[in-house]
Amino acid sequence: MTVFLNGEYLPLAEAQVSVLDRGFLFGDGVYDVIPAYGGRLFRLEQHLERLERCLAEVRIPNPFDRGAWSAVFNALIDRNGGGDLSIYMQVTRGVAKRDHAFPEHVIPTVFAMANPIVPVDPAILETGVKAIVREDFRWQRCDVKAITLLANVLLRQEAVDEQAMEAILVRDGYATEGAASNLFIVKDGVIMTPPKGAKLLPGITRDLALELAQANGLACREAEIPEAQLRAAEEIWMSSSTKELVPVTRLDEQPVGDGRPGPVWRRMHGIFQAWKAALREGGEGV
Ligand code: PLP
Repeated sequence: MTVFLNGEYLPLAEAQVSVLDRGFLFGDGVYDVIPAYGGRLFRLEQHLERLERCLAEVRIPNPFDRGAWSAVFNALIDRNGGGDLSIYMQVTRGVAKRDHAFPEHVIPTVFAMANPIVPVDPAILETGVKAIVREDFRWQRCDVKAITLLANVLLRQEAVDEQAMEAILVRDGYATEGAASNLFIVKDGVIMTPPKGAKLLPGITRDLALELAQANGLACREAEIPEAQLRAAEEIWMSSSTKELVPVTRLDEQPVGDGRPGPVWRRMHGIFQAWKAALREGGEGV
């Protein structure tokens, strides 16, 4: 695998950063994950816009303009064989003597790699997955895609320990998102997802799903989801760039709806796959 580190393309085994990197010492950095289908980057502008916003929020200077980021990602796709790949990229504040406050004259560390996208197991699309509900004990700025992910790691592991795919998080009585995905429910036939804000990551797949639902005449709205509404939902789905839209058919030990992926999810899944096929063919658009 060829990766990108601070301006160079290197074999993974040769890519090294200092132990004084603030990403290593403090988790002081931000990241993004951008899928490419048939070598074409998925919603690149939206991903770069989110990256720019996150860097600005944590006051790390953006090392590249959009053209330069795009060139790095495309070079990684080429050097790693093209096809369906997911780009992982992160920027940390850089290497400096350990002190919490920002160091002066520090150069951000930039790392990016491309990994094959593992397609979601078709059996999962037939049966759906289990999710558990947990209290959201993350910080108050979940809209920032920070590399500081210890709470998400612990919550996701709790899900794995319960043979579940995801932990759905509840804060102040309202469901926000998953440990690594956004949340949708269907109530009275209407698709619902919590509004953007500091309590959740503004997922690119979430926005696309809303756009596709609207463009195809499916009723949808952004609204707070009380925990009781989550537990009574007709359908629950989780969304993320690498998992797309996954139906949740068991919540804790209870079936969701009739315990099988629901009709609204089936419709959206078809629309999403058609959109992806169009992207592969060279177009993007609803
Ligand atoms: N919410 C969290 C906490 C995430 O970590 C992710 C993705 O990793 C998402 C939502 C989904 O975002 P996207 O659709 O941009 O992948």
